[in-house]
Formats: sequence, C-alpha cells, structure tokens
Amino acid sequence: MSDKKLAVITGASSGIGAATARALSRSGFDVLLGARRTDRLRAVAEPIGARFHQLDVTDPDSVGAFVDSIGKLDLLVNNAGGALGVDRIETASDERWRTMWEVNFLGVARMTRSLLPALLASREGHIVNVGSIAGFETYPGGAGYTGAKHAVRALTKTLRLELVGRPVRVTEICPGLVETEFSMVRFDQDAEKAAAVYKGMTPLTSDDVADCIVWAATRPAHVNIDEIVVRPRDQATATVVHRES
Ligand code: NAP
Repeated sequence: MSDKKLAVITGASSGIGAATARALSRSGFDVLLGARRTDRLRAVAEPIGARFHQLDVTDPDSVGAFVDSIGKLDLLVNNAGGALGVDRIETASDERWRTMWEVNFLGVARMTRSLLPALLASREGHIVNVGSIAGFETYPGGAGYTGAKHAVRALTKTLRLELVGRPVRVTEICPGLVETEFSMVRFDQDAEKAAAVYKGMTPLTSDDVADCIVWAATRPAHVNIDEIVVRPRDQATATVVHRES
C-alpha cells in the first residue's frame, strides 16, 4: 500500500484534467483518472503509471462502480464538464441544457457526495472544483453553460459552509479561455468554429490551469485557497478579448 496521497481527477481523458493528472503525479500524488473514453484515459495514465477507470459522472451506477474501491482519498478534482452550443434562451433545446446541467453541476454534486466519506477518512481531504469565469459572468448564447457554472459556484460556496470545522478544504478554480477540446465539443467538432475562439490571441494552456490546481492542493492543510480566477492576459471578461488581426 503506497503512502503517497491519492488524487481522483474526473474528465482526465483530455485538456485540463489530463494536464492536472500529469502535474499531480509529478508532485508526488498517486492519481486515479476517470472519464468516458477509456482509450484516451489509457494514453494519459500509462506514461505516468496511473490507474484509470471508466466514469460517466451523469450516471449514478457508473459513479458507484468508480468510487467502490476507494477507501481513503486526499484530493478530488471535479473537472469533468463542458459546454454544448451557444444557443440563445429563445431557441435553446432542453436536451443540450439538461446535459450541461447533468455533467457540470449534478456530476460535481454526485462525485462529491460519493467521495466525501473517503475524503473525511484522510483527515486532510481537499475538493477542487473546476468552475469557470462563466460561474460569475454571462454572455449572449451562454446561459445553458453559465447557468450550470453559476450553480457550481453556489455549490462550492455552500460546501465550504457545510464542511467548516471538518478536515476537508474546498477550492474553486475559475479559468477564462483555455485551448483544449472544449470548443470542439461546444461546436459539435467544427474545427473552424473552434479555432476562431482562440484566433489572434494567446489563450491559457491546460498546463497553466493544472499549475493553479497543484499550487492550491500543495498548500499546508490549514490553508484553504477559496478560489483562483485565471485568465489569459488578452482576456478582460468573457466578451472583452484582445485579438491581433
Ligand atoms: P475538454 O478537453 O473537452 O475536457 C473535458 C473532459 O470532461 C474530458 O476529459 C471529457 O472526457 C470529460 N467529460 C465530459 N463529460 C463527461 C462525463 N459525463 N463523465 C465524465 N467525464 C466527462 O475541455 P477542458 O477545457 O479540459 O474542460 C475541463 C473543465 O474545464 C470543464 O469543467 C470546463 O467546463 C472547464 N473550463 C474550461 C475552459 C476552457 O476554455 N477550455 C474554461 C473554463 C472552464 P470524456 O469525453 O472521455 O468523458
């Protein structure tokens, strides 16, 4: 049995989750990765000697099977999430909005609830939720996603109130534009639309965000980093972005 700290990372098959898995592993954590695409999980896990298990955070049975073998856990990074489309409220479909709510919000709630006993058992547990500037800003066409991320923010703040006095820290990481598969997913794999999101500006990388997560996670156990808002220098708000033409 390893005496290293154990971290679970959801949505570790790409982007911020994969970078966080690598960075936490470099920092001395044992990492257990979850996501739906196991081929992609394997590609992240094998080079760092990590374990992985299929996980769909929207499916209670999948979450149950994932958490089954975890007795003690030091760090839960609730990272799985994303946006689907840029539908305005007047024309949006319930289906896409329901999926965003299920993944971004209920997924975080479900993983947290399921792993809280293991985090408490560690006596130095830590929950890091990957929110977004969409958790406190809005933009036209964004309500399905910003609504879900606003809810993640409310959940994170409520959790801190409910857990005060117990040995678990609660942190929210709120990035601006990060170049990952996020925009490919949002625009149904339309590479041109996805590339336009980052055109003429320098976005954050997944490693930039992973750095923030590792920093928050490696402070002493009595230090709670409530939140980190991290944006590209080229981005002032969700809608004010400097681009070189
Ligand atoms: P990404 O590359 O698309 O990664 C999203 C991850 O979530 C993937 O590993 C995906 O894996 C996983 N995922 C999606 N649905 C899932 C489900 N039902 N169950 C389990 N895993 C699921 O995008 P990213 O930018 O790294 O996104 C990571 C987080 O950062 C998200 O919460 C996103 O909202 C947030 N964020 C991103 C940005 C940005 O600009 N990129 C900015 C602020 C916040 P599978 O498809 O294999 O399941």
